[in-house]
Amino acid sequence: MQQAPCDSSLSLTCTVLGGFGFDFSPNETVDLKFKQESFELRSGELHHQEIYYLELEEVEIAGPGTVTKGGGFIGGGFGIDGAIQGIALATILNALTTKSKVHTFLKLVTNSGEIHLHYGGMEPAALRIALSEVFVVLRRQDLGWLAARRALLDSKKDGMSNEQYELLVSRLLKPPTHRPLSERQGRCPSCDESIPLLSPTCPKCHAQFGAGTAWSVKPI
Ligand SMILES: [Zn+2]
Repeated sequence: MQQAPCDSSLSLTCTVLGGFGFDFSPNETVDLKFKQESFELRSGELHHQEIYYLELEEVEIAGPGTVTKGGGFIGGGFGIDGAIQGIALATILNALTTKSKVHTFLKLVTNSGEIHLHYGGMEPAALRIALSEVFVVLRRQDLGWLAARRALLDSKKDGMSNEQYELLVSRLLKPPTHRPLSERQGRCPSCDESIPLLSPTCPKCHAQFGAGTAWSVKPI
């Protein structure tokens, strides 16, 4: 079984809350980078640890998201498991509250350990969406998941044509590749010219697109 590479180049600056099997201490700031076949935790210039997705068993995202009143972490009751609760953790979290109003907790479980991180840059739901590709990679390397999906196709084989069955099995074994968004075309809402979907401005009429502008390129 070939592992689907992950194209996400998402990089998150997190604070270590605790864990086991990782060489980072609580309250240390780490850059968590999701690369093609692995993720990397980096602290400073010299200290880093790389874990392959094949070693990654679970990613869990939890937390209250935006907290309107600062502080108030009293060593538990904020949705992460008991192993990392305690006075030291509450101290770290309360200190983080002065820097960040968003509290998102990220747990990475690997073959050799687990690490619990705090991320203040995105709400839990937004981070879950940003990490979609990582979750897809995780599902696709799960042999139990693949077997269950295959068993479903096999159980419905009688109700479909051979061609359809072969198509669905081939898509399960080797997912279709998707054209990157950067290659899609759109139409300028101002001059109706066909332009790349992700254009910041129209090359023909110079209309502006993106955040804070009234126009947006219409997908075609
Ligand atoms: Zn235009």
